[in-house]
Amino acid sequence: MDGNMADRPAAARAQGREAVVFFDTNNLVTFINTAAERLWGLNEGEAIGRPVGDLIPGAGGQPSGELPLSITRHDGSRVEGLVSVTRAKHKRETYYIAFVRPTLNPPVHTKSLAILAAVAEKTDRGVLVADAHGKVIYANPAFRDMLDDGTEWPESVTLAELFCGRLGNACFADHIQDAMDRRIALSEDVALKGNTGMEVWVSASVTPIMDRQTGVLEQVVAVVADITHTRLVEDLQRQVLGALAADAPMADIMDILCRKVQGLAPNALCSILGVTADDRLTVLAAPSLPAEFSAAVEGLPIGPRSGSCGTAAFRGTPVLVEDIATSPLWEDFRDIPIPPGITGCWSIPVKLRGGKVAATFAFYFQTAHGPTPWLENVVAACSDLCALALERFEAKKRIEMLANVDTLTGLANRRQLHAVLEELLVEARTLEQPLAVLYLDIDHFKDVNETLGHSTGDQLLVEVSRRLKAQLRTGDVVGRTGGDEFLVLVHDCTAEEAARIARRLLEYVAAPITAQALHLTMSASVGIALYPDHGTDAETLLKHADTAVHEAKRKGRGKFHFFTEELNRRVLDRLVLSVALREAIQNRALRLVYQPQVLLSSGALHGVEALARWTDPIHGDVPATRFIPLAEEYGLIESIDEWAVEASCQRIATWRQEGVDVPHVSVNLSPLSFRSGDIVGFISGALREYDLKPSDLRVEITERVMMDQHPNSFATARAIEALGVRIAMDDFGTGYSSLSALSRLPIAELKIDRSFMLSIEQDQNAQALATAVIRIGHSLGMTVVAEGVETQAQADLLRFLGCHAAQGFLFARPIEAADIGSWLAARRAG
Ligand code: C2E
Ligand code: CA
Ligand code: CA
Repeated sequence: MDGNMADRPAAARAQGREAVVFFDTNNLVTFINTAAERLWGLNEGEAIGRPVGDLIPGAGGQPSGELPLSITRHDGSRVEGLVSVTRAKHKRETYYIAFVRPTLNPPVHTKSLAILAAVAEKTDRGVLVADAHGKVIYANPAFRDMLDDGTEWPESVTLAELFCGRLGNACFADHIQDAMDRRIALSEDVALKGNTGMEVWVSASVTPIMDRQTGVLEQVVAVVADITHTRLVEDLQRQVLGALAADAPMADIMDILCRKVQGLAPNALCSILGVTADDRLTVLAAPSLPAEFSAAVEGLPIGPRSGSCGTAAFRGTPVLVEDIATSPLWEDFRDIPIPPGITGCWSIPVKLRGGKVAATFAFYFQTAHGPTPWLENVVAACSDLCALALERFEAKKRIEMLANVDTLTGLANRRQLHAVLEELLVEARTLEQPLAVLYLDIDHFKDVNETLGHSTGDQLLVEVSRRLKAQLRTGDVVGRTGGDEFLVLVHDCTAEEAARIARRLLEYVAAPITAQALHLTMSASVGIALYPDHGTDAETLLKHADTAVHEAKRKGRGKFHFFTEELNRRVLDRLVLSVALREAIQNRALRLVYQPQVLLSSGALHGVEALARWTDPIHGDVPATRFIPLAEEYGLIESIDEWAVEASCQRIATWRQEGVDVPHVSVNLSPLSFRSGDIVGFISGALREYDLKPSDLRVEITERVMMDQHPNSFATARAIEALGVRIAMDDFGTGYSSLSALSRLPIAELKIDRSFMLSIEQDQNAQALATAVIRIGHSLGMTVVAEGVETQAQADLLRFLGCHAAQGFLFARPIEAADIGSWLAARRAG
């Protein structure tokens, strides 16, 4: 036997530093403690995610008592041990915890019986020898100490009498008998009644000794070791680890730890103090110390003479102060209200994996005595547990941090924003305050990324987030929800304030940014949803702010827009309608009507304008002013424009065959169709297919083509002109008319917008403008066509001003293709 007096605490401490392996229901390792790292010669990173069977052969989702185990270490060496598995449940998830302790090496073989006898007399393990009938023939002093109540041993007591009787475990007596009958060894942890009547836990191994030749049972030897203390420590470990696996809050775990330790070490009060990032103490648990003490300790800086804990944390080694009243370490802390009766303090630093002191574990003694071996033992186990708990919480915090922060800008990410919004909403509800959710989206950010590269894009995002952050009050939150989208949450904020903030944010974003030696000017759009007007829960508010920012973009960028229910309805309606429109386009259910354009000088036909019409089986007649913008928004406009070109060409060919004399058809094209330039090939193809001259077709574009910054738009216009197809500038005078742009585009015709007609007769300004437009047209060699002419007076005035042609209800509404022939005939007849 290798036991001696000094050995016991050491062996127990080895148990206190029991290796712990967490694994999940897939039998994958989720955590190992430092002791386990040492045991297997692995670090945690190497162990996590492995099948638990790699570490503990045969372990799985089955709780078990202690089972023998042979461990293969990382370096190939082997260690014998014992493993037990516990199951823990948390939020419907099951975890398993395996506790592994290496067993001691097999007994040293000694040469002489005399030595053995001497060992038996000296060892602290109880040794009991019985003959083949179970009659006790020898009990060593340790056994008598451990279990004997001091009275004389009765003559010829049997093992059965001993265990059933004064040791109070009949069951174990049966087990011994069974081992003797079957000639097998037995190893078991059992509870026995100790000499003071208290329960004593022992680890017992019973070995039958047989005659080598005959195999006849000669003796039986029982060796028992007192494991009461390790058993208690194990219980404590199990409880704390169970709480950890169940994700109990840090304060609860620390509290359990303190209380349990106090239970194991009477006369000592326990505290656990954390060490903050700025090296100050913070009370994690001190359940039995008075509140004034905790309050006084909270926030004290650690240092070379900072009481017991502050010094232990500073030095990284245990600090024992036997007399607080006179200790120089407590010099500066005499006014800390030490609880009455407390005279000494022993503080042990708790270190994390990297060696950093994260906490101190301290005992306050009521009677002057230092750490006993038992207390050292408990502390060793507990500071490991404490480190384990702190590491888990640190890891959890780190993971949460990573999960909640946008790594590029350091702002809150979507997840975090959601959580904060929930919190702010609770506050807003309780205080009955409004709350604003602002969605900010950078305009044309994709272009920046594409043209200047992603690193410039990133730089811009970082700068924008800095500016946004600088604009907010404390308590308000800004975060990035992805790409170029930012979310700003403003508490206690009315609509007016939200508008003010939005304007300010837009202004700040718009200030030039220097990135890669370029001075860039960004703009953004903001959508605003308000609590409680636009929604009362986070999801609704976010959705509505998102809708509002799209509306802001639609209205022209660099603006903010509020969400309204009406807006929401419109969005939904548009969505439904867009689906129907897509179908109508696919089914070729759109048709064209044609509005005659009349030469004001002769009354002859100048041309006709093709206008799209859509009659939907459910939505009825949908006006072009509704479905054309919808098509632009939902990416359907190019197919409409291509279809209109093709249908118009086909119609001209038909008229030619029928002898209906239409000089040309004017087709409306969206600015969006100018971006890809595909329309050019389409036009030339249709002209070829129907054998038409380029002059048979005319295209109408709006000033939006010039506004569109897209690099292809001008080229497309020039290519169309190069085909010989003339281009008319539609709605002239409504937008941001730029004469220079007008001269840059190959325009052959100007169409004066209908809005002029409404006031042209009465309003001098409107007349002056119309006059100017007509002159400009003339001077640039363009024909001028007036739209929306409804009265004879308007027509007369236009003719007087020198306007070329006019279209409008005065002459004709847009009419079906088949009716153009009869309209022309009627007009000639009239
Ligand atoms: P627009 O090109 O300015 O077309 C003229 C609009 O004024 C037409 O409306 C026409 O019906 C209307 N109009 C004509 N004369 C009068 C009048 O005397 N008084 C009044 N009050 N209105 C008159 P519509 O057909 O609803 O088209 C609206 C807009 O939709 C068009 O404006 C055009 O921009 C667009 N659009 C129509 N068809 C197409 C198409 O096939 N492709 C594209 N891209 N846009 C189209
Ligand atoms: Ca037009
Ligand atoms: Ca027009």
